[in-house]
Amino acid sequence: MNKYVERVIDSVCKKDADKPEFIQAVKEVFSSVSNVVDAHPEFEKVGLLERLVEPDRAVSFRITWVDDTGRTRVNRGYRVQFNNAIGPYKGGLRFHPSVNPSLMHFLAFEQTYKNALTGLNLGGAKGGSDFDPRDKSNWEIMRFCQAFMTEFYRYIGDDTDVPAGDIGVGGREIGYLYGQYKRITGIAERGVLSGKNLSYGGSLLRPEATGYGAVYYLRDMLAHDGRELRNKTVVLSGYGNVSWGVIRKLAELGAVPLTVSGSAGYVYDRNGITDPEKINYIYDMRVNGVGSLSDYAEKFGAEFHAGQKPWAVKADIVMPCATQNEVDIDDAKLIVANGTRYYAECSNMPTTNEAVDYLLSNGVTVGPAKAVNAGGVAVSGLEMAQNSMRIAWSEDKVDSRLYDIMHGIYTASVAAAEEHGMGYNLVAGANIAGFMRVAESMCDEGIY
Ligand code: NDP
Repeated sequence: MNKYVERVIDSVCKKDADKPEFIQAVKEVFSSVSNVVDAHPEFEKVGLLERLVEPDRAVSFRITWVDDTGRTRVNRGYRVQFNNAIGPYKGGLRFHPSVNPSLMHFLAFEQTYKNALTGLNLGGAKGGSDFDPRDKSNWEIMRFCQAFMTEFYRYIGDDTDVPAGDIGVGGREIGYLYGQYKRITGIAERGVLSGKNLSYGGSLLRPEATGYGAVYYLRDMLAHDGRELRNKTVVLSGYGNVSWGVIRKLAELGAVPLTVSGSAGYVYDRNGITDPEKINYIYDMRVNGVGSLSDYAEKFGAEFHAGQKPWAVKADIVMPCATQNEVDIDDAKLIVANGTRYYAECSNMPTTNEAVDYLLSNGVTVGPAKAVNAGGVAVSGLEMAQNSMRIAWSEDKVDSRLYDIMHGIYTASVAAAEEHGMGYNLVAGANIAGFMRVAESMCDEGIY
């Protein structure tokens, strides 16, 4: 590995020893760009890598709210604005008890390269809170979102930082956040948040975008080997926004999703999750809190495996769609032993670095998260464009732009890997293509 790259990774391991997920993400990106740094000695002169591992700023703040019993509750909020070399900061908000500085740093770092890959002018950020929305009433969610925005509003703006949803933050939460932003600032600044509902400035297809984009990318992975999605079986995790979009598009294109999962376990539906009734049931579970995975299994004659992940189920394609590090080396061994040929990461960093290496070295084609799941942020970028032009595009127009962006990411990744002697390696290619766009912008903009 390039000595400069090695030195910067070492310094991150020491300085950010309390942030394991961030270290994992830095190693993944920087090990891919070692050859590129060899070819650009000027990067070391301008301290490029040291600047790339230090966020522009990271804030944490207190969120005080009152629950339904009248008790005062305190949570911690975060925003890591990592890099705005190519555009205003952009990245989701996550409400989940596991949220901590390491997760926020890793997600904001990752977002920087993902956003660069879309070809749009979007910088990288991430934020959220350790608040757990799962056992809260609608009023509690509203009061929490209002309390969050009461502090958060000072960091964002349509040309500064544009947050969106992520785990635990969907259309309902974005609505409450936006309402409070307007109440505080008095400005109907629609471009300050993306993922809004249609009635007040959202984009058609935003809810489906991450899942649809992932399947468009997957289709290119198969097309590379002269294959099609029709009749291919797919194992996926999660039953959230991303899983739902993936399942809908897979079903439309004739593939057969077999599993969904959550913290409680997984469902294996041998008949395929392809009927609109089943897909709507999954939507209702997430959006309206109706039913559960075990209820799904009972209603549709499927198996429910409590407390387990779905990776033992045999399928042509695997698509993790739930959370970080959900596939470790033992899971990767199961996936390879099952004869899976294609592995598309839909959640952020779902696979440990060791597991990715194992999959790659056993002939599995791996589509990396920062490329595969970039459709969500891409349509958020299209939502920002529509807001600034004060128009609304048709679903067909948004869908065709989404398709073009995903295909562009795939072809740019293939070309970048080939150009730097990495062969057909989509993981390395995505890292190189995203990195080069940020690196060139930073070099152009001077040292700061
Ligand atoms: P949702 O909150 O809609 O769904 C998350 C799903 O993951 C749920 O089914 C949840 O099940 C499951 N899950 C979460 N944490 C765990 C855990 N620790 N163990 C097992 N299951 C878990 O989130 P999204 O679908 O929006 O996001 C999923 C992933 O995709 C995240 O990594 C996110 O960062 C990424 N992503 C999302 C985008 C978007 O547009 N929404 C865009 C790009 C990336 P349960 O509730 O039972 O825990």
